[in-house]
Amino acid sequence: MPQLNQSRRTFVKSAGALAAVAAAGGAASALTQPTDALGSKQEDDRIAWSMCNVNCGGNCIFQWHVKDGKIAYMESDNIGDKAFQARACLRGRSMRRWVNSPDRLLYPMKRVGKRGEGKFERISWEEAIQLIHDKIQYTIDKYGNEAIYFNYGTGMYSTTGRNPSKRLLGMLGGFVNQRYDYSTHMMSASMPYMFGSNKEKGSVYSPYDNVNASSFSEAEAHSDLVVMFGNSPADTRMGGANAVWDFARVREAIKSRGGKIVNIDYRLNETSAGHSDEWIPIRTGTDAALCAALCHEFVVDGKTDEEFLSAYCVGWDESTMPESAKGKSKSYKDYLMGVGYDKIEKTPEWASKITQIPADRIRQLAKDLENAKAPFVCQGWGPQRHSNGEDTARAISMVPIALGQIGLPGTNTGQREAEPPTYLVSALPFKNPIKTQLPVYQWLNAIDHGSKMTAANAGIGGAEKLGSDIKLLISYAGNCFTNQHGDINKVHEVLADESKCEFILVWDTVLTDSGKYADLLLPDAMRAEQLNMQNQGYSEYYTGVTVGGPAQEAPGECRTHYDACADIAETFGIREQFTEGRTQEEWIEFLYKQGREKHPEMPTWEEILEQGVYKRELPPSIGLKDFRDDPSAHPLGTPSGKIEIYSEALDKLNDSWELAEGEEIHAIPVFWPGPDGYGEVTEEYPLYCSGFHYKSRTHSSFGFIKEIDEMNRQQAWINPIDARERNIANGDKCRVKSPAGEIEIEAKVTPRIIPGTVGIPQGAWHDADMNGDRVDKGGCINTLTSYRPTPLAKGNGPSHSIIVQITKA
Ligand code: SF4
Repeated sequence: MPQLNQSRRTFVKSAGALAAVAAAGGAASALTQPTDALGSKQEDDRIAWSMCNVNCGGNCIFQWHVKDGKIAYMESDNIGDKAFQARACLRGRSMRRWVNSPDRLLYPMKRVGKRGEGKFERISWEEAIQLIHDKIQYTIDKYGNEAIYFNYGTGMYSTTGRNPSKRLLGMLGGFVNQRYDYSTHMMSASMPYMFGSNKEKGSVYSPYDNVNASSFSEAEAHSDLVVMFGNSPADTRMGGANAVWDFARVREAIKSRGGKIVNIDYRLNETSAGHSDEWIPIRTGTDAALCAALCHEFVVDGKTDEEFLSAYCVGWDESTMPESAKGKSKSYKDYLMGVGYDKIEKTPEWASKITQIPADRIRQLAKDLENAKAPFVCQGWGPQRHSNGEDTARAISMVPIALGQIGLPGTNTGQREAEPPTYLVSALPFKNPIKTQLPVYQWLNAIDHGSKMTAANAGIGGAEKLGSDIKLLISYAGNCFTNQHGDINKVHEVLADESKCEFILVWDTVLTDSGKYADLLLPDAMRAEQLNMQNQGYSEYYTGVTVGGPAQEAPGECRTHYDACADIAETFGIREQFTEGRTQEEWIEFLYKQGREKHPEMPTWEEILEQGVYKRELPPSIGLKDFRDDPSAHPLGTPSGKIEIYSEALDKLNDSWELAEGEEIHAIPVFWPGPDGYGEVTEEYPLYCSGFHYKSRTHSSFGFIKEIDEMNRQQAWINPIDARERNIANGDKCRVKSPAGEIEIEAKVTPRIIPGTVGIPQGAWHDADMNGDRVDKGGCINTLTSYRPTPLAKGNGPSHSIIVQITKA
C-alpha cells in the first residue's frame, strides 16, 4: 500500500502577504527550483499546494508554481506511485483562468436595478457587513429563524469553505436545514426503505459510503461482468486517482479474465466509447422496465436465488410478504409474472416496447448476468434523476438481489461504486439548533408558500411543518437559484417578487446567473488565495489531505468567507464565540492536529506544511458484506432488518401523504413512466430530452471558461434519423422548446444517441433577456425542465425527464 509522506525541498523565498502568512505559521510552501527554457534557475519559484475545489468529487491535487508573487503555471500531482496520482483533468487544469479571470468579483456590491436585472453599485465592506447584520436581525425579529435558508452550493469545497456562514447562523439561533442534495435526491430518499437507515441498528444509509456499495477495486479483483446503468466516470470524474482511473483498471482486469463490461445508457458515453465491449442504448428513464424484464428472465430460467431471497429479503414473493400485505398479490415476483396489480407479465417483449432494446438483447443480457460468477451491477446518479427516479434506483438494485449476488466477492448492490469511508480531517464545526429540514429542491416553494408546507405534502423533515416562508436566502459559491434548479422562468417569477423573499445574499467569485438575483453580492477569495486544507473527495477510493497556499494575493477587496463572517459576528457581539480566538489559519492547524490525533500515521503539522500532500490507498470493500455473512448479527436498518423489496412504510406513505394528481409512492420498485417520461410525448413535443454531465464543466463550475467550452461545445445531441426529419445538419443552430421554456443551441447529429431522444449537457450558463423573449442563448437545460418535485423525495427528478421539439433556428 503506497504511502506518501516524503519531504519536499525547502522554502527559498516568498513575497508580500505570502511571507507574512508563512511567518505566522500559516503558509505551506514546498519549493522547487525548476529551470527555465534557457536552463537558468528561477530562484523565486515556489510551490503552493491546493486541491480542485469543485464538486465532481475528485478533489485532484494542484501545485501552483509561483513567481514574483503570482501564479505562473500549474502542475498537478506528480509525486509518489504513478498509479496513485490525483492528476487534474482538463477542468482542473483551467483553474488558473478562473483565479485570474477578468470576470472576478472585486468589491461588495448592492443591487440598484430590479431584482434579476444584474445591476449593482459598489459599496464598502463596512456597509455590506452592517446591511447583513440588519437583514438577519430584522428577519429573526419579524419571522423567526425558520425564515432563513442557506442554499445548496458546491463551487468552493474546503474544510473552511461553506461552513463559516452556517457557524454564524447557528450561533444566531439557526436556519432551516437542507435535506438530501441535488446529486442523489431521489436515491437518498428511496434507498433507505430498501436497505435501511437506522443508527441504533448500526446500518445508516448513505449514497456516499462503502457500507451499501462495493468499490471498483473489488470489481477489479474479482468480478467477471460489470453492468453499468447510466454511469460514466469518463464524463463526470475524470481525474487521475478518480473513478475513471479506477474504471480503467477494472476494464483491464475484467478483460484479462475473459469477462466484459456492459454499459446501458441513452448515449454512447465517453466511458463506453473508449472500449470494445457493449453499449446497450436505452430510452431515457426506462431502466426499471429493463430491470423487471431481466428479473422476469431469471425467474423463467430458474436462476433466482430463492434461498437468499427468502432468508434476506421481504417482498420477493408471497411467502416473504409482511402480514399486512399477504394474499393481495403485491409481491415483486407477482408484479413480474403478471399476477400483480397491473396483470401485465414483464416479458422482454413488454420491456422492449418501452426501452427500445430488442427483446433478444434483453434475454442475452439476462443470460450473461445469470452465468457470471461475480456480476458487479452499478448505477450512476443520472437514472435516479428522473421523475420516476425513486423507483428506478431501487429497480436497478433488484438485478443483483434477484440473483443473490450481494455481499459476495466481486459483486455490488446496484448502487454507484463505493466511496471512501475515511476522512482524515474535519471541517470548521457548526451547530444548528433548528431541526427542521427542507428537501433541497423545495426552497423555491418554501419562498412562495413555505408556511403551508408540511411533512405530508412537501417532505419536510424534523418537524411537522415549516415555521415560515423563506424570507432571507443565502448562497455561498453556488449557482442553484437559477442555473442548477428546475424551470428557470418560474424561478425568475418568484425571485423577482421582492415581497416574497425579502433579502438575497450571494457570495461568489464571479457573477453567475444566480448571482444576478442578489440584493447584496460579496466577492470571495479563491482557494488559491488563502491557506487551504481539503480532504480527498468522495468519488475515488483513497484517502488523503492537502494543505497549502496562498499562492497569490486575492484581487480587489476579495476576502475569505471566514474573515467576513467573523466581522458579521462582531456586529452581533459574538466575535469571540465565533472565532474561539482563532484565525482561519489557526483553525486549519487546529483541525489538522485534531485529525492527526485520530490518525497518528499522518505527518506532523510542520511536515504537512512542507510536503503539502498526504495520501494513502484503501483496501477494496464489498457492500453489505457483514449483512451477507451474518444477517442476525448485522441486520439492516429497515424495520425487518432485511432488504425490503416491498416496503410497508412506503405503502403507508402512499396512503397518508398528500400527493398530486397522478402521483403514487410504490411499495415495490415498479416501472412507472413518471411525468414527462415514457408515453408522455405529444405532437407539439414529440421527443424525449435528458441532460448529462459534461467534460467542460462540473455542474456549472468552469462554465464561463471559454477555452474548455471551445474544446467541448455546448451542443444538443440528436440522432441522424430525428435530424433528417427536421432538416437539421451537424453544427446547425437550433431551438429546443419544452412546455417550460426555449433555448438556442448548436446541433450535434450523431448515432451516439438513441433515436427519439435529445441529449443536452447540463450546467451551461443561462443567458436570456428575461424582460424580452426569454429564449436562453446559453443553452441551459434548466430553462426546459419543469418544477414538479417527485412524489417521495420531493426532489429534482424532472432534471432528466423533459419532452421537447427541436427545430432549425
Ligand atoms: S476530476 Fe474533478 S476534481 Fe479532478 S481536476 Fe477534474 S474537475 Fe477537478
